[in-house]
Amino acid sequence: AAKERAPGSIAVFDATMQRRAASRLQLEGELRRSLEVGGFRLVYQPIVDSATGRPVGVEALARWTSPTRGVVSPQEFIAVAEDCGLIVELGRWVLREAVTTFAGWCAGQPETPYLTVNVSGRQLLHPGFVDDVLAVLGEAGLPPAQLGLEITESVLLQEPTRARQMLGALREAGVATLLDDFGTGYSSLSWLRQLPADALKIDRSFVQGLPGDAADASVVSAVVALGRSLGLTVIAEGVEDAAQLEALVQMGCPRVQGYLFARPVPGDEARATLFGR
Ligand code: C2E
Ligand code: MG
Ligand code: MG
Ligand code: MG
Repeated sequence: AAKERAPGSIAVFDATMQRRAASRLQLEGELRRSLEVGGFRLVYQPIVDSATGRPVGVEALARWTSPTRGVVSPQEFIAVAEDCGLIVELGRWVLREAVTTFAGWCAGQPETPYLTVNVSGRQLLHPGFVDDVLAVLGEAGLPPAQLGLEITESVLLQEPTRARQMLGALREAGVATLLDDFGTGYSSLSWLRQLPADALKIDRSFVQGLPGDAADASVVSAVVALGRSLGLTVIAEGVEDAAQLEALVQMGCPRVQGYLFARPVPGDEARATLFGR
């Protein structure tokens, strides 16, 4: 695009880029400092049984307030953390915080809900990730079967062999893999068959169009059928109203998550939702 501009406008373009780079660097610095001083927190969104309306688990989601910009969306700060490599350390904090907190809620309870944590590609492929996860579970005393890791398809496409090894090793220990934002990537069916996955999370963009949009409805019911035939749980993300829920129930989608049931909430509230106290 710079080529198409009048001569002289290059300098303006440069200044914009420079400003953007400086702002990015400042953001990185703030993220780094926040990690040191405990400036991140977690919220939890219930995952619900579509037939009974009962929560069966929660997804942990990171929250961050910048000292200079206020609340920054995870989409933005996770992307920056991924780019600068900070995601490994941030992800480790998320995992430890979520697992420790959740294990505390579950202690002495007869129910065994599960916890899911989002994991970035760089974090998954980092040497020591598998040991880290198992160590955190051991220290917290949470059975591995109560933990699931949410991974996007793109992660698996970048380094399919290593990603499969890591997830396979964790799965042998009992930790589940959930494919997040499912449908937005490029999974082929043959490839999906080889994956060590336990659940598919249908991306919100497909759920949004229910029940009216025929194309969205076909995608969702195809994913539900696929999950059933491969023996995978299917979770619909971003369910916001009763008509969407009804369509999902009719399609036989076993799990749902979204604002209709609950927004992501602080730990105390999530615990009360799961255990009724
Ligand atoms: P995700 O894992 O697909 O999480 C679902 C997102 O949809 C969350 O946004 C959630 O708040 C939002 N959501 C849930 N129900 C509804 C609904 O009914 N309607 C609408 N409009 N939105 C809904 P959030 O918390 O802003 O997170 C965005 C993304 O950031 C996540 O997408 C995930 O990819 C990433 N992320 C968040 N926390 C972490 C983390 O600790 N580690 C990593 N690696 N990524 C994270
Ligand atoms: Mg997720
Ligand atoms: Mg998602
Ligand atoms: Mg997402």
